[in-house]
Order: sequence, then C-alpha cells, then structure tokens
Amino acid sequence: MADAAHYLGLDIGGTFLKAARVDAGGQVVERRREPVASGDAGALLAQLETVARGLGGAARGCGVGLPGFVDRRTGVVHGVPNLRVLEGVALARELSERLGVPTAADNDANAAALAEAWQGAGRGAESVLMLTLGTGVGAGLVLGGRVYTGRSGYAGEFGHLQVKPDGVPCGCGSWGCLETEVGVAGWVRRAAAARERAGGRTALAGVELDPERIVEAAKAGDAVALAVVDESAALLGVAIAFALDLLNVEKVVIGGGVAAAGEFLLGRIREQVRRRTFPQIFADAEIVPAALGGDAGVVGAARLAMQAAGAA
Ligand SMILES: [Zn+2]
Repeated sequence: MADAAHYLGLDIGGTFLKAARVDAGGQVVERRREPVASGDAGALLAQLETVARGLGGAARGCGVGLPGFVDRRTGVVHGVPNLRVLEGVALARELSERLGVPTAADNDANAAALAEAWQGAGRGAESVLMLTLGTGVGAGLVLGGRVYTGRSGYAGEFGHLQVKPDGVPCGCGSWGCLETEVGVAGWVRRAAAARERAGGRTALAGVELDPERIVEAAKAGDAVALAVVDESAALLGVAIAFALDLLNVEKVVIGGGVAAAGEFLLGRIREQVRRRTFPQIFADAEIVPAALGGDAGVVGAARLAMQAAGAA
C-alpha cells in the first residue's frame, strides 16, 4: 500500500473558504466550500478549526493559502486588504495550537504555484514561475520544490512589475504595474479607449466589456479587439521576459480566468517573450497553461502542510 498519510489544504479567499483533504500523492480525497467567517479573527480561526476537524482529525499537517503575505521571520500575516481580520495574526501558529499538527501558511498565489510545480503543469521542473491572470495578476516562484518567499513574503510579486512608465496609479503605490494593465480592469479600460478611438467601428461597440468578450471578438477578426489582445500579450511578454532573463526558469505556468483564452493568447505571449529574451533562455523555458484549475489553492496548501510536517 502506498503512503496513506493525508494532509489538509485550506484556501482562504476574500469571500469563500475552500478546504480539502489531500493524499500524499496530491489527490483531493474530500472537499468543502463555504462563505468565509470574516467578522473577526476569532470567528475565522474557529471556522478554520471546525472545517479542518471535519475533514480529518487524523491528517498529519495543515496548510493555508491566504490573500496576503506571511512574514517569513515572524509568521505574521500582513497586507490583506480583502480580509482585514487576518492582519497581524500569526495564523500558522494559532492553527497549529488548535489542531495539534504542523501547520504552514503562505500567500494564495504562492500556494497555487507550489501545486502546479508539484502535481500540475510544472511537474518535474526544478524552477517554476506561475502567473494567475484574473481580476488581479497573482504569481508565485517555486525553486527546487519550495516556494521562494523572500524576506518578508513579497517575492514573486510579479503583478507589480512596472510595464508602463506612464501608466495609471496602482494600489501598491506605484503606477503602470502589470496588474493595472492586464488585470480585468486593465483589459476593460484599454478596450474602452480603443473602442472610443475607433468611433464605434468595432464589434466591441455597445457591449459590456470583459476579457472574454474582447478575446471572442478578436478571434472573430475584429481588428480593434485584436489590438487589445496583442497589447495584453506584449505587456505580459515584457514582464515574463524580465523574469526569464533574471531567473532562467524552466517553466512558466499561466492560469486564472483570463488564461481560458487558451492558445490564442498564450501563443501571442510566447512570441512577445521570444523577441525579448536570450534565444537560449527562451529555448529552455516552456510557457504552458495551468493544469489544476480551481484545485490548485487547496492542493498547494496541502503541499505546504507536507513540507511543514517534514514529509516533503
Ligand atoms: Zn502595483
């Protein structure tokens, strides 16, 4: 019989808590999903404890992905604008005391990256950069099977690379960040401006804009929409090329809702990266779609639990 050990993965979002019991091979055995108890830290900790116990008291460890940062030196959570009750909480320590098992916590994008590197599109690669393209642009860097967090947990904040020195202000305090340009709001803003310039001569005229609609129109041959897609690919290409030249990583995994555009977008991103990197770096880097979908968060959190328990 294979290793029968199980681990718990919790993925705390701004709205929903996803939780799963995961086996040592990365398979989800059981899962839960419920609204996050966001009233205060005590209520949230109690909810996490209840969900964790409900999923399996015999689990050997618990991992948590959350929408903020964890200071590597202190274990304290910070930078959680979408779930302020977690601010200042030493989450892993609190949960470990309640559950009696080794517990780890990290940024949700880092957990997703760890999952893809372990059992998803980055499997087998020594170095993986994962980008999640959605409302925001999340990212995580996995080196040698471990998340690289940097000193205060901010490593891999790829969405805040400045790709437009004359761009719009970003919540991080900078401006022209990748996230302000190719997060959902960025796609919509650029498409609205392009539609305006086209004087309505585009399939985007009169429609409520979102990345999916823009990609659809581009695929159908609308020149204005296609220019918006090409610009998105170029901006992502600039940022990914930065990362490749700096790190020479093996795999760049791209997931999130916007990545559902598939090869139409991915192929364009690859071409933009190719133009901006050393040929050898480009040749040795695969840019591939994510494989784990919505499970990445809980599977990555379970992998954090395995690492906290010394089993990986
Ligand atoms: Zn920013």
